[in-house]
Amino acid sequence: MRKPNLIARLLLLSSIVWCSAVLSQRPIIDMHMHAFGFDEYGKPAPANEITGVIPSFTSDEEARLGMLKEMERVGIVRAIISGPLEHVTQWRASAPLSLIGGAYTGPRDPLPTADALKKLIKEGEISLLGELGLQYLGLSPEASEMDPYWRIAVEFDIPVALHTGLGDAGTPYGCCPKFRARLGNPLLVEDVLVRYPKLRMYLMHGGYPFLQETKAILTIYPQVYVDVAVINWAIPRAEFHSYLRALIDAGFADRIMFGSDQMVWPDAFVLAIQGIETADFLTEKQKRAIYYDNAARFLRLTTEQINSDHTSVR
Ligand SMILES: [Zn+2]
Repeated sequence: MRKPNLIARLLLLSSIVWCSAVLSQRPIIDMHMHAFGFDEYGKPAPANEITGVIPSFTSDEEARLGMLKEMERVGIVRAIISGPLEHVTQWRASAPLSLIGGAYTGPRDPLPTADALKKLIKEGEISLLGELGLQYLGLSPEASEMDPYWRIAVEFDIPVALHTGLGDAGTPYGCCPKFRARLGNPLLVEDVLVRYPKLRMYLMHGGYPFLQETKAILTIYPQVYVDVAVINWAIPRAEFHSYLRALIDAGFADRIMFGSDQMVWPDAFVLAIQGIETADFLTEKQKRAIYYDNAARFLRLTTEQINSDHTSVR
């Protein structure tokens, strides 16, 4: 038993060293992170399904500092963070310049009211609408109750991060009885995009597994981007690569953005990066575009911000 364990550990160690070495010259923008309490999914947290590692954090502070440390180690210089507002506020206080606060809605978190959201935006606490896990609430993006939120996003010119595509196996039987697979279909954003042409929206999880529908939206609506969070580490790698490759081959290399969706697992960052690193069909330029350049364009970063991000990883 001992030898395989040792070999497995050495392999893991070498992949971590390899990852840090590869990434030391490359800044990364993580378009899909969560600021959750350490016990968001229970106490202790469940093991990462891919690595089997149970996070060791025993307080929110430990979780926050542990995540921030790991982000720095792997070269994540800027990130979208969403979660319960108290956590987003605490995270931003720890690293205010590089963390963009998102208004989160998910299985247990309703959206703030339209008035509360406006106030948070004006105060600078929230600068993005999302992650919008509407699918978990049984809501389509077309639902009329979303209209005030789309209007606010346009009025304040803030990006919208919409959960699309997948969920955990058995989701409607567990947390979210109203969840439906069909509500993850990216085509459901079409009427919203027509009614609000100035909406700066990206499809989280790249619309996976709705490949044709995602391609259709990206083709007709050139303002729409995608992130590849969670599909870059939690689904079989060959499946992720075939999906990513299809989007690249369809000509969308300049609208795909890196995301981790690390949730409560700090080891997800390295897994997510490995998902991109091992995609041998990507050119170096395409990798850089996915890690940084596409998000910088989507977020309209200034030259000064871009220069500072690049300096910070050298
Ligand atoms: Zn999501």
